[in-house]
Amino acid sequence: MDSGTRPAVEIVEVGPRDGYQGIGPFIPTSTKIALLERLAAAGLRRIEIGSFVSATALPQMRDTREVLAACRQLPGVSAQVLVPSERRGRDAVEAGAQCLVFVLSVSEAHNRNNVRRHPLESAGEYENLLAAIPSEIGMRLDIATAFDCPFTGRVPEAAALALLDRLIPLRRDAEICLCDTTGRVAPDHVKGLFAAARDRFPETPAWAFHAHDTYGLGLANVHAAFGQGVRVFDASFGGLGGCPFAPGATGNVATEDVVWMFERMGIPTGIDLDALVPAAREAAALPGALPGGRVREALSSRIGTAVPDTARA
Ligand code: ZN
Repeated sequence: MDSGTRPAVEIVEVGPRDGYQGIGPFIPTSTKIALLERLAAAGLRRIEIGSFVSATALPQMRDTREVLAACRQLPGVSAQVLVPSERRGRDAVEAGAQCLVFVLSVSEAHNRNNVRRHPLESAGEYENLLAAIPSEIGMRLDIATAFDCPFTGRVPEAAALALLDRLIPLRRDAEICLCDTTGRVAPDHVKGLFAAARDRFPETPAWAFHAHDTYGLGLANVHAAFGQGVRVFDASFGGLGGCPFAPGATGNVATEDVVWMFERMGIPTGIDLDALVPAAREAAALPGALPGGRVREALSSRIGTAVPDTARA
């Protein structure tokens, strides 16, 4: 790849974790690995391949070790795995993970629901984890419910910043991802919190944004974060996600939609849409999947028409 097409934004494919975890029927490990290979071939270079969590709570993630081992064989692909505690983080490193995503929520109600701890107890887990693993293991912090909580609604900016005050000094080179867990945030709030956070923690080397598209604001929010200097974006191929038991809930912003937007803006992503879209269609067709996004269908219906898009009214 020459410098003219070097990616200006980094898209982290989180479908194999955030997308699959809501799918009821177990996706065969061989299918997961085949789809990882398709994603890698489309140019995805960072993939969140699963999580080290309770197999009882999230049975879809029970083969994360095998998927991780397979992903490590893919040249040029960096696998990251999500962990909610010191113990799970150690398990992940022992299994060969080289990049961990430690997740905790700003909202006490959401954190207790997820991991049965106060957010500050989770911060203590993070501190213990850092002490327990080699410093060369890459670290990202996923700040869930940074904007909005499914139980208590809008999360005050001050609460998100206060949690970052506790977390960021523990490891200053960690990437910080502010997550719109519910998809209910609006672009002005995305802009406001990133502006405040970047102002307060100017040394943080990388900020990331994790969008859900539940209310159709995923791309608008990604664009708002981009406007604040964020260059790392989570997305899920096929727009996978959502909970099969929560009608109307949808997944992450679709990877193909994010790629489409940035490429239309002249901002290279390093991802080949022609290779990504067929993989996204396959993911969207997985039994039990709740797909989202628009670009997949738009491009699929265009195939064969040979009408230049500039000719459209
Ligand atoms: Zn998510």
